[in-house]
Amino acid sequence: MQNFNFCSPTQLVFGKGCECEIGNRLAERFPGGRVMMVYGGGSIRRSGLYDRVMASLRQAGLQVREKGGVHPNPDIGFVRDLIAECRNWQPDVLLAVGGGSVIDTAKAAAMGVPYEGDVWDFFCGKAVCTKALPIAVVLTIPAAGSELSMRVVITNEGRKWGTASQAIRSYLSVIDPELFFTLPAWQAAAGVVDMMSHIMERYLTNTTGTGFVDAQAEAAMKTIMKYGRFVHKFPQDYDAWSQIGLAGTFAHNGFFGLGQEEDWACHGIEHELSAWKPEITHGAGLAVVTPGYLSYVARRNPARILQWARNVMEVDPELDESKAVAGAVASLRDFYKSLGMPLTLRELGAGDAPIEQLAERAVAKGPLGHYVPLKAADVAAILRSVL
Ligand code: NAP
Ligand code: FE
Repeated sequence: MQNFNFCSPTQLVFGKGCECEIGNRLAERFPGGRVMMVYGGGSIRRSGLYDRVMASLRQAGLQVREKGGVHPNPDIGFVRDLIAECRNWQPDVLLAVGGGSVIDTAKAAAMGVPYEGDVWDFFCGKAVCTKALPIAVVLTIPAAGSELSMRVVITNEGRKWGTASQAIRSYLSVIDPELFFTLPAWQAAAGVVDMMSHIMERYLTNTTGTGFVDAQAEAAMKTIMKYGRFVHKFPQDYDAWSQIGLAGTFAHNGFFGLGQEEDWACHGIEHELSAWKPEITHGAGLAVVTPGYLSYVARRNPARILQWARNVMEVDPELDESKAVAGAVASLRDFYKSLGMPLTLRELGAGDAPIEQLAERAVAKGPLGHYVPLKAADVAAILRSVL
């Protein structure tokens, strides 16, 4: 096991109706303060959440301004506008009401406001973020895990890049699983795929001595698959959504990577797809890429994939290595298909993807991933295998 330094300081408030308390909770730290509320394309208005959150903020004596209209796979232009508005109004806290796209927009703006240069500097490695405005979250979709993570992903002219900083961990995140009842089946399924991937990207490691975390990761993946199937059939089941919500949030706060080197090749490949075509849903892209990736890298480094096949996908322990891997990958595909996810680039609407160009971009910063470091030719072969 490698040395590590772990701090996940977010206050996590979980349960029915807890979004109605958001005003009082923010007012505890910022009495009479200014709240810049950030949200997406309108789902929170249709569900009534907007009205509940606004009422809670006003009743708590807070001043509120709002910026709605964040798109999935959020864009740097929107972030820059939000930074300008924050510099002008000087809020005490940014409140993200939404999913990964809204949270990441708020995080990027929170980094950009106190920084003199352009916010993209953090994403292209020109600057390191050490301070940011405080961020709070009301989560509406369990998927990205950004409500507890130290990561942020933003798109800028075909480049979808991420950065990380302890300074952008939300200080308060509120999760009411009832808010997930209004999710379209597609978004719910894509969220399940994304949280599975956040655990797998850490589980695929060459570090030894990871037994404690492995066991938790295996249990979490089984829980997500079990309840992912369940909420697909019964999208109004509170207890099932609670399981998904909790697992998805912890999937990405760093716990599953403790003491080990992480991989992140599947996310790297998917980000090229959704940067090239922003209409691609992140989780749906991962549903296409991940099985192809697993089959490809298992030929070079089967150890962890075999462990996953036996402990998570529960293939027959008597099967030899290649049959076990093939069986487990087939089961993963079946699972994703049962949720309505695409399995090929064509089904994803990316049959015309410029594979060689995307592969070159995926390795622009060096070989992709650690479990099996991938070159452009490897990425291209993986994408061709799922065409
Ligand atoms: P999202 O892009 O935030 O939201 C997807 C869609 O779901 C939106 O159209 C949204 O509609 C809708 N929606 C959300 N909640 C809803 C609800 N309760 N009812 C009905 N519709 C709802 O989804 P996401 O998967 O959470 O975020 C994806 C982004 O996060 C990607 O850019 C991805 O790369 C990034 N990401 C970030 C991290 C990180 O740690 N920072 C990790 C993984 C992925 P409205 O816009 O109308 O609300
Ligand atoms: Fe993700």
